[in-house]
Amino acid sequence: MLRGGAGRHERGSRHRLRPGGAACTSRTMPVRRERVDPIRTPAQLELCHRRWLLPDDVGRAVALPQAARLWRGLLDLGVLDPSAEAQLERLSLPAAGQPDQNDLPAAASAGALLAGAGSATAVSQVVFPEEGRRDPYRDGGPDPGYRDYTLYVVDSPRFLLLPLPPVDLTCGACGKAGAPDLTSFGAASLLDLERACSACGARHDLDRDRATLLSGAIFLLEELCARAALSIELPRAPRDEELPDAGVSDLLREAFGGYDELADDGVEPA
Ligand SMILES: [Zn+2]
Repeated sequence: MLRGGAGRHERGSRHRLRPGGAACTSRTMPVRRERVDPIRTPAQLELCHRRWLLPDDVGRAVALPQAARLWRGLLDLGVLDPSAEAQLERLSLPAAGQPDQNDLPAAASAGALLAGAGSATAVSQVVFPEEGRRDPYRDGGPDPGYRDYTLYVVDSPRFLLLPLPPVDLTCGACGKAGAPDLTSFGAASLLDLERACSACGARHDLDRDRATLLSGAIFLLEELCARAALSIELPRAPRDEELPDAGVSDLLREAFGGYDELADDGVEPA
């Protein structure tokens, strides 16, 4: 295990993990915006921060009703806006084309998650805390700017979600390294567990394959995979390493069991 006792929460992990977004590939030196930075170029201003909240065990199932309850809970807690619209993206697996996308009333979006059997589904809504929405990262005063919440759930034994797509995968069986063959989905990617190593024919082994992020950080593949994840995108990096809102945190634990937080700073907005 590469993960230490403190898991992905450990201080410094956000720095090791940045940048990971596939959207960064065109930027050789993605810039992390500091909280106090008087000089910003237009390019820097476009960058955002994303926090991925995901089950701490990729082997733990997250059934569609659990995902729906999580999304419903975010509506009930006032994090999301029930009176506005939400966007639904759905990709049948294995993917044979582009995802279906449609807008629907947020109040109906939790129920729509239930219809995601055999698919990857992402439901999202952009809200503004200054309009009265509850901000789970608020720590002493309103922090203006948008929050883009997206819940991903993959209902398939064969595919997993990779919130931070690696640039390189090293086969645990033979040691061959190469660019992974991933399917892009929202701000994340999907990993096909049946894809075999081109050198030795072994299938992906989450316990042994190693993944290298764009930052150069190396992880066991299992540490980067999930069956579901909530992403929170925001214009400024939250001060807290961990979600400070106990109500939202409880909701995540009900849906995911224990959960980890992955930081992706200096990425392009979804
Ligand atoms: Zn191999």
